[in-house]
Amino acid sequence: MPNLAPYAACPEFSLGRKINEPPPASYRTEYQRDRDRIIHSNAFRRLEYKTQVFVNSEGDLFRTRLTHTLEVSQISRTIARALRLNEDLTEAISLGHDLGHAPFGHAGQDILNHCMKSYGGFEHNLQSLRIVDELEEKYPLFRGLNLTYETREGILKYCSPKQAKSLGQLGTRFLHEGQLTPPSLEAQLADLCDEIAYVTHDIDDGLRAKLITIRQLRDYRLFDEHFSYVLKHWSTVSQRRMIYETIRRLIGEQVTNVIETSRAQLDAVQPKNIEEIRMLEEPLITFSAMLYEKHLELKQFLQTQLYQHYRVRRMGFRAHQMIRRLFEAFFSDPTLLPLEAQVEVQRLQGQLGGDAGRARAVADYIAGMTDRYAILEYEKLFELTTTVV
Ligand code: MG
Repeated sequence: MPNLAPYAACPEFSLGRKINEPPPASYRTEYQRDRDRIIHSNAFRRLEYKTQVFVNSEGDLFRTRLTHTLEVSQISRTIARALRLNEDLTEAISLGHDLGHAPFGHAGQDILNHCMKSYGGFEHNLQSLRIVDELEEKYPLFRGLNLTYETREGILKYCSPKQAKSLGQLGTRFLHEGQLTPPSLEAQLADLCDEIAYVTHDIDDGLRAKLITIRQLRDYRLFDEHFSYVLKHWSTVSQRRMIYETIRRLIGEQVTNVIETSRAQLDAVQPKNIEEIRMLEEPLITFSAMLYEKHLELKQFLQTQLYQHYRVRRMGFRAHQMIRRLFEAFFSDPTLLPLEAQVEVQRLQGQLGGDAGRARAVADYIAGMTDRYAILEYEKLFELTTTVV
């Protein structure tokens, strides 16, 4: 690949796919092929109707998992190109990173994890991997999307040591808690860009929803520095445009900082290849210490003031009720499931044993739902005046 840094992932040296396939056409690399498989997957299309923070019905301008995913992809591609990393790989990872989210955001994951506590739990990173490895059914020769090792490595951002044991080579970096070795630079980058994207767009969405205020945000350096600049230069434009300009500058500062900091770290360490990256103790794609501190302040503010806001908590409460009752109904009587999901119950009971297999099939079915599909399923089962179809 022309212009790729020596430490970038290179498709020619990929650790490959679980099942060998003929190489892609000459105009497409293995990582482009991964990206294309993700974009054409069912799980990717469902992201459009899954909650990021605000449920889809709250308003058309709020981020969904899909628009969040596209923002992560855009930011990470920009940085990948500047650092001469593999843009195709970081794009594939970014587009796949949130496929495993349950409906209703983190509230959905938490209750599903609770329902699954006797059967191995539920965790969205692991579920993203499960989708691309096993649950998508698009190819005659294998289950899942049969992605390359590097894309799968990037998608699995986190996993417990216990779960890691069943994942072979992909799980080895998670086996010893507290001694996590880094993945490829492209994976590090997609992970960091996820943070840049959500912290900045949640500010935008939180202000739009009026759950947080500019006055509150001005207590935080990262926001205030840019807002003050905008106020000084464009005090007569509408507040909406001032907010957009502040957000735009905020993303810009973080992107520039990641490029400059990471470039300096790469220059100092001089890794010769991707294997050396994986043997380091620390990631090399980072913010500077100072910017990280400011970024964290803002993140903590969002955690306490936005994600814990009573209106967001109420959405979470409703999600808990719906998902818990759906899980209980399907688990106690799988004949209520659509026929394809009943086939999955049979398959997973054969693989994992009776209750564990049934629970996993129900969790997969519920996790795959969009918010609106979950609401519809709930109404069909529990709202007795709804017509059942
Ligand atoms: Mg994300």
